[in-house]
Amino acid sequence: MAEVDAAAITANCRRLNRALGKGTVLCAVVKADGYGHGAVLGAAAALAGGASRLAVSTAPEAGAIRASFPRIPTLALGILSMAEVDQVLSCGAELGCSSAEELDLIETRARALGARAEIHLKFDSGMGRLGTSSTVEILAMASRCSEAPGLRLSGVWTHFASADDRHSGQFDAQLDSFEAIAREVRSISPTAVIHAANSAAVLRDVRSHFDMARCGVALYGLDPFQSDPRPWDLVPAMSLHSRVGPIREIRPGGGVGYGPSWRAGRWSRVGVVPIGYGDGVRRALSNVARVLVGGESVPVVGTISMDSLTVDLTSVPWVARGDRVTILGDQGAHRVLAEELARHLGTINYEITCGVSKRVPRIARRDR
Ligand SMILES: *Cc1c(COP(=O)(O)O)cnc(C)c1O
Repeated sequence: MAEVDAAAITANCRRLNRALGKGTVLCAVVKADGYGHGAVLGAAAALAGGASRLAVSTAPEAGAIRASFPRIPTLALGILSMAEVDQVLSCGAELGCSSAEELDLIETRARALGARAEIHLKFDSGMGRLGTSSTVEILAMASRCSEAPGLRLSGVWTHFASADDRHSGQFDAQLDSFEAIAREVRSISPTAVIHAANSAAVLRDVRSHFDMARCGVALYGLDPFQSDPRPWDLVPAMSLHSRVGPIREIRPGGGVGYGPSWRAGRWSRVGVVPIGYGDGVRRALSNVARVLVGGESVPVVGTISMDSLTVDLTSVPWVARGDRVTILGDQGAHRVLAEELARHLGTINYEITCGVSKRVPRIARRDR
């Protein structure tokens, strides 16, 4: 079971809002089912914490968010097929546009549907994926938007490639090139919302805030810099739990699970826990991760399988079948952070919460 603490998301939003420059609004990014937390729950909690806009990636995500929050401006950030452009326009979401060619397609579809497209022109200031890096092209696109009846220029934006790397000079270079472009687009359309910052940029440099910040990872209480959210005053919203199942006495030299990849060095008490890689607890955490049980931290021993994993309970003789096992989250004085699991796996915290599978029920936590 994954517990999701909506109050933590609300508090994290307030925290981010305090960091934002005056006149900067917070756009809560709830793509990928709210980074695994639940998009609607995440969006509602973020709006309660002062976010005034929402962003998603795909057209189906936009449709779902618009259905639940029809009055909140919602931006689809991702790459859209023609059918997806139709879906975004029909649900009234705003959309990114990266080239004159895309603008042609959007204008055609808007005319066909009798809709007006709310366009955010994307400038590629160095990410090298979406957006145009041509000043001439983006200014021509801005002019087109202000002339064509089916188009409205709602924003101009860019995305940072290395906001989380404080040793990289790329962030400042991107910021400088975007700032110049944004000012020119603004002179064509004074109401266009200028936006660039993700969570890391918000915490790193107030110059990047402009009119709006698009925050995802920090909303959920994850550290954008992959260390520890606590010094930033961010509270992790997701915790992942299971229960102790059967407990086995393993003699010295005895193995547990597939392989066996672990053998007992002494008489050991091993608990079988009904959660595995089918739930998103990655197999590469076998013999590496620790879990919290009985208020203590104990090692995962043996190979994690699809539906279960095994933990060494020898040091916690008071633990019994049915006791809560925390894979991610806290128990007593102990914490397991998504950042720690990510480090074991050579990945980032985003992938930890997104990786909790569909099989795991998300339960709203209500004790705060
Ligand atoms: C996902 C995403 C964000 C949010 O980034 P975080 O690092 O999670 O704050 C912002 N902008 C774009 C374009 C994104 O795709």
